[in-house]
Amino acid sequence: MHPTNTPTPTPTPQPPTTVLGLGLMGTALATALIKAGHPTTVWNRTASKTGPLAAQGATPAATAREAITASPLIIVCLTTNADVRALLAPEAEALAGRTVVNLTNGTPNQARELADWAAAHGIAYIDGGIMAVPQMIATPGAYILYSGADEAVFATHRPTLEALADTKWVGNDPGGAALYDLSLLTGMYGMVMGVAQAYALIGSGGVPAREFAPLLREWVNAMTDGLVPGMAEALDSGQHLTDVSSLEINQAALPNFLTAYAQAGISDELFRPLQGLLDRSIAEGHAADGLSRLATLLKKGQAVPA
Ligand code: NDP
Repeated sequence: MHPTNTPTPTPTPQPPTTVLGLGLMGTALATALIKAGHPTTVWNRTASKTGPLAAQGATPAATAREAITASPLIIVCLTTNADVRALLAPEAEALAGRTVVNLTNGTPNQARELADWAAAHGIAYIDGGIMAVPQMIATPGAYILYSGADEAVFATHRPTLEALADTKWVGNDPGGAALYDLSLLTGMYGMVMGVAQAYALIGSGGVPAREFAPLLREWVNAMTDGLVPGMAEALDSGQHLTDVSSLEINQAALPNFLTAYAQAGISDELFRPLQGLLDRSIAEGHAADGLSRLATLLKKGQAVPA
C-alpha cells in the first residue's frame, strides 16, 4: 500500500498581538503568543531584550508607538502601574480604538484610574492579575484574572489570552482583578511568612530543613484544607463561636512561640503583631470565638486612598 498524499491543513491565522515590557514575565507571555501562532510584535525599554524573541519569530519594534500600531491588542507587563501610566500617557492617540490588557501588578484603585484614563481616550481597557510565575505561563494550572468595564471586549480577545493561561473573568469593576490578585497573594505571603518562621525555628534545633519539609508540608496543607472553607463559613454566617480552637487559648499559647523564638535567637517581627490582634480580640469580648474573628477585627482599620 502506498500512503496517500493528504494536504497539510493550513493553520488558522491568529490575530496580531503586541507585548510591551519584556522582563521575565513579559518574555514568557510573548513566547506563549509566538508559540500559539500569533504575529507578535514586541517592545522593551532596553531594546536588547527583544533579541531572543525575534529569533523565535517576533517582530521587534523600535518604539512603543510602532509596537502599539502593529496590533489591535496591546498586552502590557511592566514593573509598576506608574511605569505603565508613564509609558502609555504619551501614546493615547495611537492607542485609541485598540484594547490594552494590563498585566502589571497593582492596586484596585490604580486599575480604576487607568481604566478611567483609557475610557477618556477611546481605549478599551482590561486589567489583569497573573496567578503564575513565568515558567508556568502556557502550562496547566496557570491562570490570569481579568476585569474591565466591557466584558464583550474581553470576550473578543479571550481566545488570544487563552494562549497565555486559563482566563478567569471577575467582573465589570476594573479594580476587580487586582483585588482578587492581591487577596490571593496575601494568602500566599501569609503562608510564606509561616513557613519561613517554621524553618528558622526547627533549624535552631539543628534539624535540616529537608528532613522537616514533609511534615511541614502535610501540616500546612491539612490546616489550609480545613481553615480556608471553615473561616469563609464563619465570616459569611457571622457565627464565630468555635468548638475547635478559641481566641483565648491561642492568646495563652502565643507567648510560648515568642519566647521560644527569642531563646532560639530568632526574630519575632513577623509574629509579634498577632499578639496585639489576639489581645484586642479578647479585650473586645471575643474570647470564645475562633480565629475567623480576626478577619473582622482587621476590617476595622481605616481604608486609605491609593
Ligand atoms: P522584570 O523586572 O523582569 O521586568 C520589568 C519590566 O518592566 C522590564 O521589561 C522593564 O524594562 C520594564 N519597565 C520598568 N519600568 C519601566 C518604565 N518606566 N518604562 C518602560 N518599561 C519599564 O519583572 P517581571 O517581568 O517579573 O514582572 C513584571 C510584572 O509582572 C510586575 O508587575 C510583576 O509584579 C508581575 N508579575 C510577575 C510575576 C513573576 O513571577 N515574575 C508573577 C505575577 C505577576 P527594562 O528591561 O528596560 O528594565
